[in-house]
Amino acid sequence: MASMLHEVEVGSQSLASYASLVDQALIDEILELAKGLKGCRLLHLSATSYGGGVAELLRSEVPLQRDLGLHADWKVIHADEKFFSVTKAFHNALQGAEYTLTEEAKETYLTYNTRNAQQLEEAYDCIIVHDPQPAAIPALRGKDGSKWVWRCHIDTSYPNPQVWAFLKPFIAFYDGVIFTMGQFVPSDIGVREVALIAPAIDPLAPKNMDIPLEMCRRIINSIGVDVDRPLITQVSRFDPWKDPCGVVDAYRIAKKEFPDLQLAMVGSMALDDPESWRIYSMIREYVQDDKDAHVFTNFIGVGNVEVNAFQRLSQVGVQKSIREGFGLVVSETLWKGTPMVAGRAGGIPIQLEDGVSGYLIDNVEQCADRIIDLLKDRDLARKMGERGREKVRREFLMPRLVRDKLAFLRSLH
Ligand code: UDP
Repeated sequence: MASMLHEVEVGSQSLASYASLVDQALIDEILELAKGLKGCRLLHLSATSYGGGVAELLRSEVPLQRDLGLHADWKVIHADEKFFSVTKAFHNALQGAEYTLTEEAKETYLTYNTRNAQQLEEAYDCIIVHDPQPAAIPALRGKDGSKWVWRCHIDTSYPNPQVWAFLKPFIAFYDGVIFTMGQFVPSDIGVREVALIAPAIDPLAPKNMDIPLEMCRRIINSIGVDVDRPLITQVSRFDPWKDPCGVVDAYRIAKKEFPDLQLAMVGSMALDDPESWRIYSMIREYVQDDKDAHVFTNFIGVGNVEVNAFQRLSQVGVQKSIREGFGLVVSETLWKGTPMVAGRAGGIPIQLEDGVSGYLIDNVEQCADRIIDLLKDRDLARKMGERGREKVRREFLMPRLVRDKLAFLRSLH
């Protein structure tokens, strides 16, 4: 007998806990929308329970949907490195990378999707499939009375034509699709219900909750970073689109002006991202024996609380992405009152207002110049951080995302 898909355990959370952080009108709107969805059996289907933005979002979103009376589950597909090598290549190709689609890659993708389609046994009213990895499941399984939604988290503005042509018939099978921004929606998507919903961060999660500064200092000191010297940090998967070498280059330029400057590159190894080990080794090599350029991973215990402390204590947060779906780390960092210097890519400009809460940059030199500006003018940096936090409070906290999702689910029924 086929085994069942693995269900991810999440904690519990209540909407009421967010009352002091977001406007009451938003809470009321959510409660009203939820009335029409009580008892709705909702499944989120994704590729991995750990690492990267999707896992981060679902860990906070699912408990809130349960609190609102939906029967929400989160399951992940069974797959291994063979499949994830193909889907990571698809992911890169959909974000515009050069790629030649082979018959073998297609076959791998379809074999694993077919197998997982067979393992989805329970009935749901609505199934939200996240990203391209499991996207073919409804077409291979049949709709079976459920509403199917594809939630695409990546930048598909200029998808590789071969990969998009291969995936498109599977996407056309969905009842609705959700993208982060209008510019990401391929013009020939072939699905009528299209929603634009930006992701959000959870201010109550260990990654974002308020931690006293003294505690942050102790946490960061304990892993070998000198908290009395200036620090810039990039937190991201080890991925070429996050331009890790560009970050090191910008740091080196800034270090000429601030010889005390330290860099922390904090990266996690996502389970569905076989490329990350290669990039990790490449960065280690690239920083050479610079004792002030630190490379940390979840494998040495740098997890959510440490990321929180890094984002709080850094003078400047860096996210030098070249392509980006949304870039949760931007909101995470701004939420802590830390200004950002970040690539003008994907969802970053909707979170980070250029010249208001930090700077948008297009190359290494600009990145370095803006880091230097913020290191020099601490008063400006503090003001920018405050403005960034307020924008995140208004637009990018979890309850807003929960509202948008409920509204979309209501529109499908
Ligand atoms: N992240 C983390 N530890 C790390 C690196 C990344 O917890 O060492 C988290 C980060 O805080 C963010 C998520 O992984 O919540 C990355 O999401 P984002 O949208 O920025 O990028 P994605 O990985 O989805 O491309």
